[in-house]
Amino acid sequence: MSAAPGTAAVPLFVSTRGNTPAVTIDTALVAGLAPDGGLYVPAQLPQRQWDIDALATASLAEVGAQVLTPFFAGSRLQDALGAICAHAYQPPAPLRPLRDEGDHLLELFHGPTAAFKDFAARFLAEALSRLRAPGAPPTTIVVATSGDTGAAVASAFHRRPGFSVAILYPDGRVSPRQAHGLECWGDNVQAFRVAGTFDDCQRLAKQALADDAFRREVPLGSANSISLGRLLPQVAYYAQAACRFASTHGQPLNFIIPTGNLGNAAAAHVARLMGLPVGAIHLATNANDVLARYFHGEAYAPQPTRATLANAMDVGAPSNFERLHHWHPDDADLRARFAATSVDDATIREVIRHAPERHGVVPCPHTATGLHVLERLRAAGDTRPWAVVATAHPAKFEGIVEPLVGHAVELPPALAESLAHPASALELAVDYNALQSALRAMH
Ligand SMILES: *Cc1c(COP(=O)(O)O)cnc(C)c1O
Repeated sequence: MSAAPGTAAVPLFVSTRGNTPAVTIDTALVAGLAPDGGLYVPAQLPQRQWDIDALATASLAEVGAQVLTPFFAGSRLQDALGAICAHAYQPPAPLRPLRDEGDHLLELFHGPTAAFKDFAARFLAEALSRLRAPGAPPTTIVVATSGDTGAAVASAFHRRPGFSVAILYPDGRVSPRQAHGLECWGDNVQAFRVAGTFDDCQRLAKQALADDAFRREVPLGSANSISLGRLLPQVAYYAQAACRFASTHGQPLNFIIPTGNLGNAAAAHVARLMGLPVGAIHLATNANDVLARYFHGEAYAPQPTRATLANAMDVGAPSNFERLHHWHPDDADLRARFAATSVDDATIREVIRHAPERHGVVPCPHTATGLHVLERLRAAGDTRPWAVVATAHPAKFEGIVEPLVGHAVELPPALAESLAHPASALELAVDYNALQSALRAMH
């Protein structure tokens, strides 16, 4: 159901848990998590007869503005949406044909930190800056990261007036280049090397964000993947790729998406529900196989996180599952809308080793899970057109990739520039009092 044409209904956003009033998009963006612990979702997904040929020739920023406009009707950001999109979608998202007919790579790693998270982090930072009340006390964005989120959020908020960023990451569990990418910012960004796991980092961050008394003392904000402001902006690159493909080939494009918290894949699904020409969605996960088990018919059973080569996908309890289940409460119905395959580390290595010869590309370990799914589908006789989503640049994972392909992988210029800055981080124990002191000291 959507408002009748011509009425200026303000779109509302509800919690997946249903125990809190519906809010406007501005409130949902600032809040991050809903007060009842749920995730915000649009009360209605806008469906349109999209002009596919027009979207196919538009820039990514124009596509972003068009597909996001229905969500921002009546928002304080409505008139700024074009400018926000021009900022967020500066990096392109090219759809590159691979060696074999019908195989494509959707390259989402051309942003400043060389992973897809740059798009939504830049959108969110620009949106939150514009929603800030003038003269409000500075906000500290607290972000727990297993690698890529922290860098994208740091880059997006770096030197933004009114914001600082505290990054919590697990010491010794990210690649050396990922660590440098978290520690190289300076100014209003502080990295904390936590003596624990990613789950410890996340628990600490959540504890701070749930501590109202502390938040009155030190205003905190969140930019993690459950925020609506991280989900919706990702619809744009699926819309553009699918429309470009549909406009020339007259059929939807199918996507294989390397998946952890299910944020990127949830955005592809939103694009599909909005009537854009997105076909099948196949989730590729690493050895954390909770989604593969569920979509093969087992009960949904979150597990402790396992460390793998594709570390940004090391998730045992994908948070955006709650959104999918909200949209499709019936398990059989939900299972009919996705496929999922778990890929182990040995296979990831094998795919990286043969990808240059077989596909003409050097993949990062995350993208390799997607390429493996493509190879399995082709081996089983699948002839549909597929785009594997390339979620990060291989140069971020040089320690894994270079020995397998036997040569150095050239750094993209933006990454080379940030790696040239000196790195610095503070040590932090897995201790909430220690985190509070650290955040007070930053404030
Ligand atoms: C975050 C990330 C993923 C997983 O994305 P989700 O939205 O959490 O499913 C995959 N690959 C890379 C490189 C990432 O940084």
